[in-house]
Amino acid sequence: MAAPDVKYSPKPTPETAHFWEGTRSGELRLQRCGSCNHTYFPPRPFCPACQSEAIRVVPASGKAKLYSYVISHRPAPGFKPPYAIAVVELEEGPRMMTNIADCPQTPEALQVDMPLDVVFEKLDDEITLPLFRPAKGVGR
Ligand SMILES: [Zn+2]
Repeated sequence: MAAPDVKYSPKPTPETAHFWEGTRSGELRLQRCGSCNHTYFPPRPFCPACQSEAIRVVPASGKAKLYSYVISHRPAPGFKPPYAIAVVELEEGPRMMTNIADCPQTPEALQVDMPLDVVFEKLDDEITLPLFRPAKGVGR
């Protein structure tokens, strides 16, 4: 086997616990700075823009657009190649690495800037992954 043993199973830490609690209950959670109003991801105990520790957890709308992606042809646990490793830009601004569900994993189907909605995929009792799928009701 030439492929490295990459297992996509995030481990919650004290800093990310609120995020995984959120996905378990069907909510995408971000953090917002109380000093400069910057909204960010991934979770950090202080604002990456101004270092303030006056941060709070806020739910995201779940709306995003496709920012960029690469199509991987490498087998990975839980993924049948080829599959897209995507970066989406949330409506609130932060970008997140994820996968695109309910969509052919092809350059024809995966259009940069296409609108996406979050969906949640339960891996186990601890981890529910946020994935994104093409938004319904567009292109009418
Ligand atoms: Zn700030």
